Formats: sequence, C-alpha cells, structure tokens
Amino acid sequence: MTNCCIFGPPGAGKGTQCERIVEEFGMVHLSTGNILRAAVEADNDLGRKAKEYMDRGELVPSDLINAIVLEKLKQPDVQSKGWLLDGYPRTAGQAQLLKDNGLLPDVFLCLDVPREVLEERVTGRRLDPETGNVYHIKYRPAPREIQDRLVQRPDDTAEKLHVRLNAYEDNLASVRPFFVQSECVVDGSKNMSEVTDMVLDAIAQHHRAHAQAEV
Ligand code: ADP
Ligand code: AMP
Repeated sequence: MTNCCIFGPPGAGKGTQCERIVEEFGMVHLSTGNILRAAVEADNDLGRKAKEYMDRGELVPSDLINAIVLEKLKQPDVQSKGWLLDGYPRTAGQAQLLKDNGLLPDVFLCLDVPREVLEERVTGRRLDPETGNVYHIKYRPAPREIQDRLVQRPDDTAEKLHVRLNAYEDNLASVRPFFVQSECVVDGSKNMSEVTDMVLDAIAQHHRAHAQAEV
C-alpha cells in the first residue's frame, strides 16, 4: 500500500493524473478542491464559508479544511487501500499537521509546469456536472452529446489564475522541505499519457523498493 500526495500549481494536471493512479494502484482519491466545491454546491455551512475565498482564487482558511482531511484519512477504507491527497497540503501549517499526525506520504509527487502553459490548461478546462469528469476544449474534448452541459469553474479565469499561482508560489518553498525524503518531481508539461507514464513509474518504484525492503 502506498500513500501519496500530488502537488503542483493550479491546472498542472493533478486531478487528471489521479484518475489513472487510482485505476492502477487503487488508493482512495481525496481532493480538497472537490470536497470544497461539493460543499459550495450543497450550500452547507462549510460551502458558505469557503465560497468567498474560492471565488476570489484565494486559499480557504486552513481551519475549514484540516479537520475534514484528518477525519477522511482515518476512514477504514482509506486505511486499508491507502490515500492519494490532491490539493492538500498547500501551506506549511497543513504539512505540519500531517507530520504531527504521522501522515507523511510515501511518495510526494510534484508536477512541474511552467506558468505560460497553465493559462491555456485552466481557461480551457470544462467540467461535466453530471459525472464530475474533467475535460479540456483542446487537449481532452468531451463527447459531442454532452458538450452543451459542460460548465467552467468560476475561478478558471486568467485573472484568478494569477491570484491562485501567487498563493502557490508563496507557499512552495515552505511546503517542499517537509517532503524531501519522498519527493519526486515530474515534468507535467508533457502530454497526458507521457505524464501518466512518469507518475505511475514513480509510484511503482516506491512499491518495488518497499517490496525489496520486506524480503
Ligand atoms: P489540476 O487538478 O492540477 O488543477 P487538471 O487535472 O484539472 O489540473 O487539469 C487542468 C486542465 O488541463 C484540464 O482541462 C485537463 O484536461 C488538462 N490537462 C491535464 N493534463 C494535461 C496535459 N498533460 N496536457 C494537456 N492538458 C492537460
Ligand atoms: P483546486 O480544485 O485544488 O484547484 O482547489 C480549488 C480551491 O479550493 C482553491 O483555490 C482554494 O480556494 C480551495 N482549496 C482547495 N484545497 C485547499 C487547501 N488545502 N487549503 C486551502 N484552500 C484550498
């Protein structure tokens, strides 16, 4: 069993790669962005508190999300299948919380994608509200019959990407040192299947090393 975090700027391809990682290794995918968007959609207490930050492209206060993450990581299916955290940790405080709870990942995948590639990724992203599937107008077009129902995230504009990227870059240097032992940097600017090959290989290497250590 391998526990992973996937880290990278907005639009780097984290959610896209998580689909393939889960297919291959079967851990439970926990995306804090998806959890928060579902709360906004449900218009519950969390969603009402988080929405204003998300709409501005800012991080939500950690106390809104920390307890939820810890609670989800304790669930029996997550304990038995392993976890794949997407979009968490994003700050040194969140990384510290994982560390304090003995929840450091086996593999900390960093998708490295330059700023100039991210704008096209983010502004071309489309979501299918019925299935939650993520498409891209150019790189992953949706089937024609569902194209009319696709939606754009309110924070997927060039202007808000700028705010989100600044938040990412402000935290980068303080988050990465927590994961030096397990960090694996992947060139996320390649096409989807090339990135998938590198990501799956990084996790498989951990599996092999772990299996050898047990012999
Ligand atoms: P993140 O979860 O990191 O914000 P996503 O996985 O949602 O990013 O990807 C952002 C957008 O870019 C989506 O529309 C997705 O289809 C597209 N995408 C993801 N990976 C690639 C890639 N390697 N090449 C081109 N487009 C990609
Ligand atoms: P994402 O889907 O990962 O791009 O996240 C969408 C938005 O949800 C972010 O811009 C933040 O407003 C919020 N969010 C997601 N994860 C976190 C987190 N770990 N800490 C704070 N805010 C978060």
